Amino acid sequence: MKTPQDYLASLRTMKRRVYMHGKQINDIVDNPIIRPSTNSVAMTYYLAQLDEYQDLATAKSHLNGNMINRFTHIQQNKEDLLKKVQLLRLMGQKTASCFQRCAGLDALNTLYSVTYDIDRVHNTNYHSNFVKFLNYVQEEDLVCDAAMTDPKGNRSLSPLQQVDPDLYLRIVEQNEEGIIVRGAKAHQTGAINSHEIIVVPTASLNSEAKAYAVAFAVPADTIGVSFIYGRQPSDLRRLVDNWDVGNRKFGGHEALVIFENVFVPWERVFMCGETDFTRVLVERFAGYHRASYGGCKTGVGDVLIGTAAKIAHHSGVDNSSHIQDKLVEMVHLNETLFSCGIASSTFGNRLNAGNYIVDTLLANVCKLNVTRFPFEISRLAQEICGGLLVTLPAAEDFKSPLTGEILYKYFQAANEEDTEEKIKAIRLLEYLTIGPGAACYLTESVHGAGSPQAQKIMIRRLANFPEKINICQYIYKDNNLPWEE
Ligand code: SF4
Ligand code: FE
Repeated sequence: MKTPQDYLASLRTMKRRVYMHGKQINDIVDNPIIRPSTNSVAMTYYLAQLDEYQDLATAKSHLNGNMINRFTHIQQNKEDLLKKVQLLRLMGQKTASCFQRCAGLDALNTLYSVTYDIDRVHNTNYHSNFVKFLNYVQEEDLVCDAAMTDPKGNRSLSPLQQVDPDLYLRIVEQNEEGIIVRGAKAHQTGAINSHEIIVVPTASLNSEAKAYAVAFAVPADTIGVSFIYGRQPSDLRRLVDNWDVGNRKFGGHEALVIFENVFVPWERVFMCGETDFTRVLVERFAGYHRASYGGCKTGVGDVLIGTAAKIAHHSGVDNSSHIQDKLVEMVHLNETLFSCGIASSTFGNRLNAGNYIVDTLLANVCKLNVTRFPFEISRLAQEICGGLLVTLPAAEDFKSPLTGEILYKYFQAANEEDTEEKIKAIRLLEYLTIGPGAACYLTESVHGAGSPQAQKIMIRRLANFPEKINICQYIYKDNNLPWEE
């Protein structure tokens, strides 16, 4: 398994094409805007090195029995599903951000079963292609980006109806050596910190859209692949002063990943035209990833609750009954999210390929709650903090000989020597609920792993309304009870 240092060194050896703020970035590892997100991924390597986290952060590969990082593991039972959610909560607590490595893990688990199922029906050999790739990912301890979401253009139109056919990633050519693909994938979490890009279709496709039914993996520095870094709120604060950043060390990122006639050899292709399996692929990936949010977001929620409690303490109101009530409400909401992630894992099922998947209905309920509860938790935290969250002068003003003394006087904490602690906690709350952290904790909670409407469609499909109607009828029908006959 790689150490964090090995991971950073491995990124330095990859020469990928990255653009940010109008410029090409050559050194991604030491870039001050990107580095916090790289640190978050590095934490996945660090925890796997520590004795106390061996059980959660590592696993035994089912391919060869070697110990591997759990972020590359194919889940073999319900316990593996549970440990993943627990690991993600721990990671959220350690980074207070999106640590980016789980979407790739969820794509690995999805493709493991879907390639197996495609081969049974179509007599293809995608599963052996995939297992070879998986073995490489586990042995090299790699980070994979799960590239699913296409730009989609006019969303009322299908891929084939778009004015520009590249608005969904597609196969433009196919020959004896492999395929050539063109298109883009948007909102790619951690793409610039990844070694491999795993591409899968974004939606269930009809049989005419064969060119769009494509899954494959390419190294992130493959010719023709480029990245444009996504803007985050207050991202330039990282260039100015440490105090004002809130979470200086960690962060997340998203990027647009562009594929300009990229060649993929056949051994890296995991689906090529099998539109009949696009729906199950999308649903399994969504199930895994929607349950993941019951882990990562609760870990970040733990940090947020601790931050609100600390601010209350430094304001001298921690024993007030209404503050206590708000903090308890935040915990209740946060643990409800965790419960959904745990429940969907506990009710997991074995697939034909032998690996396990979460209960899809409960995973969708989990994610639908995630689209809502972090907002209420954030609202309560902001209420506890008060207006200083958006009116506190900058760190430079606190450090300035012109204004520092007066600011320390008027913004002093309940216990005067805690003033800096109070300011830092307020800045962390700003980071999490307004700044770059809000991109992960709030907006990504709405749209990551599919927007709320996608979960509602799945919940409707899986709810089994006829059965509910039957059990309703049983109650009101005037039949004798079995023990009364
Ligand atoms: Fe992992 Fe959560 Fe980020 Fe998705 S949002 S990649 S589950 S940390
Ligand atoms: Fe996400």
